[in-house]
Formats: sequence, structure tokens, C-alpha cells
Amino acid sequence: MAEPIRIIVDKCVGCGLCIKVCAYDAVSLVDKMAVLNERCTVCGACVSACKYDAIVIERRPFKGQDVESYSGICIFAENRHGALSSVVYEIIGAARELKVSLDKKISAILLGEKVREMADELISYGVDEVWMMEDSAIGDFNEEIQADLVAKILLDKKPEIFLGGGTIIGRSLLPRVAARILTGLTADCTELSIDGDNKLLKQTRPAFGGNIMATILCDSHRPQMATVRHKVMKAAEPLEGPHEGQILELSYPVLKPRVEVLEFVPEEMDTVNLADADFIVSGGRGLKDPKNFSLIEGLAKAIGGAVGASRAAVDAGWIPYSHQVGQTGKTVNPTIYVACGISGAIQHLAGMKSSDIIVAINNDPSAPIFNVAHYGIVGSLFDVVPEMAKQIKG
Ligand SMILES: Cc1cc2nc3c(=O)[nH]c(=O)nc-3n(C[C@H](O)[C@H](O)[C@H](O)COP(=O)(O)OP(=O)(O)OC[C@H]3O[C@@H](n4cnc5c(N)ncnc54)[C@H](O)[C@@H]3O)c2cc1C
Repeated sequence: MAEPIRIIVDKCVGCGLCIKVCAYDAVSLVDKMAVLNERCTVCGACVSACKYDAIVIERRPFKGQDVESYSGICIFAENRHGALSSVVYEIIGAARELKVSLDKKISAILLGEKVREMADELISYGVDEVWMMEDSAIGDFNEEIQADLVAKILLDKKPEIFLGGGTIIGRSLLPRVAARILTGLTADCTELSIDGDNKLLKQTRPAFGGNIMATILCDSHRPQMATVRHKVMKAAEPLEGPHEGQILELSYPVLKPRVEVLEFVPEEMDTVNLADADFIVSGGRGLKDPKNFSLIEGLAKAIGGAVGASRAAVDAGWIPYSHQVGQTGKTVNPTIYVACGISGAIQHLAGMKSSDIIVAINNDPSAPIFNVAHYGIVGSLFDVVPEMAKQIKG
């Protein structure tokens, strides 16, 4: 336990409220008295719930960690439905570059039901040690279970750097882990490097709406944690020739989550994964009506691409959030990005401006999207988009 937590026996009346609120099955009644077990994470839920002030946490002032006892680079091997997420290859690419400056091993935390093959794959990409926990109780991603396991593994193994993907899973998991193990987290980094003087991880990310780049250091807490923005760093290729790696099979108790995943239902839209797409056609408020997304889908189909959207279109309920491109949506990096009826607000640009070729279709010649577009078409999307689709099909 990170902090001492205790039951004050004179005050406990054995009402059981603490048992009801505990998500970790960490409290039971023995002789009508609350008793804590080793599952307790000192989350404090029982302290707030107790009407009799019978549970207390004695918070210790933080005196800094023994940073010297932490070593190596660890990555989170995010996986779903039997495969590593594409961001993992990008994180390995970043970790391999950090390894050159730091000269420490790369490890990976791999959790899931059937993940053994992925462990071998990680090694073929240059991971030196895979900390694997294969357990049917882990199953589909559940942030409560995985945050608990990742925190325990990090506390035991003590890597100095821990990296995850800036994906929906990574954004949900890593903050929980950071809070549990009392360290910082830089979200959505676009660049990582090692400071030549003090060997600290330099974590760089856009700040203030993308107007400046901030480089963040975490000097007195470990591990130094960062999520990596998807599609920004170059994906690693498998190493040429064999690589000696080790797979360590770990075993920890899996906690009982408060949320149960009943079923996984894939989204029905006939589109490819946005973040991995080479061609994207996006629609914005200029479409005026949800049914007009059929024009965007028509062009996307013609060029074999995916459908994206601005937040205005998503907020209007015209298309699901999973299609949103931008600061609060997905970051994409396709070969061609076609923006239709999108003004080019800075928050939208944050998610697509690194596309190789940007084509903008807008009837307002002063729309800011034209400032980043390589090709601009001033005209109504209702004329231009179907014509483009027709010409491409032809
Ligand atoms: C904290 C924060 C986070 C945000 N995150 C995101 C994000 O992740 N992604 C995002 O997209 N936005 C985001 N936004 C919102 C962003 O600021 C803009 O409001 C949004 O991008 C506007 O969407 P739009 O371009 O579709 O709509 P508008 O700005 O209304 O632009 C519509 C465009 O369509 C054009 N148009 C109209 N009719 C036609 C026609 N017939 N043919 C061609 N063009 C036409 C107009 O000239 C106009 O340029 C965020 C905002 C905040 C504050």
C-alpha cells in the first residue's frame, strides 16, 4: 500500500458501508469489524463513505523517489482482438531511438487473454524483455483491471521511462496508472528524446492550441511517463536478423471491476480505420444536413479512403465521434486529406495538418483551411464532390 490506511476499532460499528463502496473487494467484516486485505489500493472510497470516521489514511509528505533505482525503457503493448495496435510499432520506434542515447534495455508490458504470439512479435521488433500476463480474466480492455496490473508491474520492475499510445485506450489507462504510482504524465507527445546532460526524458507536445511546442521534464518522480500521439512518430520495422529477447510470465491477482464488458459491437459504418488510412475525405458543417455525408462517403469510396469529420459535424450528431479529426478527435497523417465544407479551425488543423497533401473544397475563398491546403477549390461542395467522385471512378 502506498500510504498507511487503518481502521479505528473504537469507532467502527460494522455497518458494512465500506464494503459496498470498495471496488477492489478489499474490505470484509470479521467479528462485526471492518478489516482490510492486500487488495486495498488506498483509493479512499471507504474513508469518504464511513459515517463514523472509523477509517483514516495517514498521508505521508512526499520526499521524492529514489530515482536511481529505476532503469530502462518500458512500453505498453496495447492490443485488441488478438493483435497489437498499430501505435505500438510507433512507440517501439521511439523507444529504439531513446535506447541509442540511454543504452538501457527496452521492455514491454503485454496483458490479455491470448497474447503469447504478440510477445514473440514484440521481440522481433527489438523489445528485449516482455513482461507478459496471459489470463482469461483480463479479456477485453477494462481500464480498472489493466491500470491496477500495470501499476503493480511498474512498481515491481521499476523502469525509468514508461510509454503508451495516445489512443482511446492509452488516454484512459495511463492517467490512472500515473495517479496510482504518484508520477507525472505528458499526454500526446509528438517528440521524445534524451537530455544529453541529465539523461532525463524530454517530452515534447503542442501547447496552447498548437501555437507553441512545450518540452516537459519529470525529474523527481519515476517512471517518466508519456503517451505518444498516433501517426506522428515513424513506425519501427522488424529487426534484420534474430534478436535475443526474454518473455517473463507474470502473475498478479486480477481485481473485480465495477464495469463489466457484456459484448463488443463493431461500428457498422463501412469505413477503414481513420488513424491508419492513406486517403481521408472529411465533411464539416458546410454539408448542412447529415444525409449529405453520403457525398463524402461516395468520394471516399471512389478513392478507397476513410470518412472523417469536423467536430461541428460530430456535435450536430451527423456522424459518430469515432470519425472526428482534430485536437479532441483523432490525429491523422494520410497521403491525401480532402476537407469538404470545413473552415479550418486551429483545433481541426491540429489533427490533420501533417497530411502529405491537403485538398480543400470551400465556397468561401477566405476560409483558413486554404492557408494549409496544397490544392484549394473555391466552390460549392455539392457540385465539386460528386464531380470529383465521378471523374475518379471514370
Ligand atoms: C477545446 C476545443 C477542442 C476542439 N476540438 C476540435 C476537433 O478535434 N476537431 C474539430 O474539427 N474541431 C474542434 N473544435 C471546434 C473548432 O473550433 C471548430 O468549431 C470546428 O472545427 C468547426 O467545424 P467546421 O469547419 O465543420 O464548421 P464551420 O467552422 O462552421 O465551417 C463550415 C465551413 O463550410 C463552408 N461551407 C458552407 N457551405 C458550403 C458549401 N456549399 N460548399 C463548400 N463549403 C461550404 C463555410 O464556408 C465554412 O468555411 C474544438 C474546439 C474547442 C474549443
